[in-house]
Amino acid sequence: MESASATQNAPSASGNGASAEGTSIEVHRPVDGSTIRSIPVDSPQRVAEVVGRVRAAQAEWESIGFTGRRRWLERLRDWMIDNEPQLADVMQEETGKVRAEAEAEAPFLSGTINYYGEHGKEFLAEETPTPHILPLKVKRLRIVYRPYPVVGVISPWNFPLILAFDDAIPALLAGCAVVIKPSEFTPLSTMEMVRGWKEEIGGPDVLDVVNGIGETGGALVDEVDFVQFTGSDRTGKVVMKRAADTLTPVSLELGGKDPLIVLRDADLDRAVNATATGGLANTGQICMSIERVYVEEPIYDEFVGRLSEQVRKLRQGRDERSYDADVGAMTTPAQAQIVADHVDDARSKGARVLTGGNRKEGPGDWYEPTVIADADHSMKVMTDETFGPVIPVMKVQDADEAVRMANDSRYGLSASVFTGTSSDGEAIARRIEAGAVNVNDVLTTYFAMGVPMGGWKDSGIGFRHASYGIKKFVRPESIVAPRMKQGKRDPLWFPYTSARRKLINRANRFINARGLRNRLGL
Ligand code: NAD
Repeated sequence: MESASATQNAPSASGNGASAEGTSIEVHRPVDGSTIRSIPVDSPQRVAEVVGRVRAAQAEWESIGFTGRRRWLERLRDWMIDNEPQLADVMQEETGKVRAEAEAEAPFLSGTINYYGEHGKEFLAEETPTPHILPLKVKRLRIVYRPYPVVGVISPWNFPLILAFDDAIPALLAGCAVVIKPSEFTPLSTMEMVRGWKEEIGGPDVLDVVNGIGETGGALVDEVDFVQFTGSDRTGKVVMKRAADTLTPVSLELGGKDPLIVLRDADLDRAVNATATGGLANTGQICMSIERVYVEEPIYDEFVGRLSEQVRKLRQGRDERSYDADVGAMTTPAQAQIVADHVDDARSKGARVLTGGNRKEGPGDWYEPTVIADADHSMKVMTDETFGPVIPVMKVQDADEAVRMANDSRYGLSASVFTGTSSDGEAIARRIEAGAVNVNDVLTTYFAMGVPMGGWKDSGIGFRHASYGIKKFVRPESIVAPRMKQGKRDPLWFPYTSARRKLINRANRFINARGLRNRLGL
């Protein structure tokens, strides 16, 4: 089988596959392994140049204010809307997604621009807190939110545009300059967006892209003022360690092993349909994919029967604007290998593969949509991130066991609960250790921009969406200024004298003690 992947034409310079200067990346079509094109790798020197250039333009970008920046981002939105089919072409080619999924990314980002365009100003509004003690009443307290000058966005391959621009957009609106390092497997759609911004929109020089793997990503971490990383927890830890050298703050959106719980009073049809979509959309390559399912014993047999029947009917393949495929290719050969390993491990430990369970023959990287019954936590498919088209199901005795199993994971990105009523579902949600929980639904927490999205435990640090998604890109600056004319000297200033000290001590007591007797020192 021919592999579809990004490869480099020179030996790696670091242990994780990082590039040497002057090498290039070959971007492949996952559907058949053929090469799309070769792109140059950006050396650390080039990364420093790019960051230096956007840094130089950032002050003016900040100075045009939120409304000025919003106008530019709205031009990007309109450009995306006008160019949706072309953007989807580029992305479909480099990811192997089916058409319906490739076409979903740009519209989502138009929504991101509209959401932060409408709410960003309010999220970043200055605050004027009331002084908490009497002597400070003569001061005006102000908190202003100032952007980190340059944000580095390091993104993965599963949603090449959303996972770069869902952060780049609020960062730009906040007044930051942004440099994106896309995944080496899928750099072309990000490059196309940046080309559109520069060449067709004529946007200010505050958005750019650099390409490469570990060496380029590491150099970006060294150069920027804030790192927004989305990817595996393994690389996230490397990035955080590197950022510690320059005390650069990081926000990490990492992997998951999202559970879905089906209780006996759930609407079984809806639970089955949701499980199939939540587990297999984007070929299971979603950080919030349903990666493991816990079903109460009385409905278990019926649930796995109906689920495998439904999954068997899904059409896997390659479509181009014909919308007649449901499940696409695996984007990287390494991920296809992990999927095969997890399924084989489950099989060898006694799980039943009800449908799928094989890599497809032929060029490209394809793994069949798969349902596994009788899974348990001795199997990798229930504990490690599979990130592929596999739905393992485990029988549980009751809701308590389901919650215990759902929480038995080092990850905590999101989860789903299917049960009779919303209120019962919400009660279960409050017991689950995850950054987001869907009740009688899947994946929706990501699309609900009004709530934060981010991981607990090994699934990350920091959040996107809602106010969190823009406020992380700014630093509070506290400004304290006089409200009225001031004397030549404040009571706490030099020189210290006994008389003033006594006065201050008495004032301290009066201010901080509670109860009249204590205040007066009686
Ligand atoms: P990855 O960690 O292999 O790579 C992510 C990015 O980091 C890529 O751009 C890569 O080139 C870069 N990188 C690699 N080595 C680096 C280094 N030493 N320094 C700096 N950057 C480096 O992840 P991936 O395989 O591209 O993506 C899949 C993973 O991403 C899965 O674990 C998935 O769950 C996770 N993910 C998380 C979210 C989320 O929002 N929480 C969303 C999508 C994907």
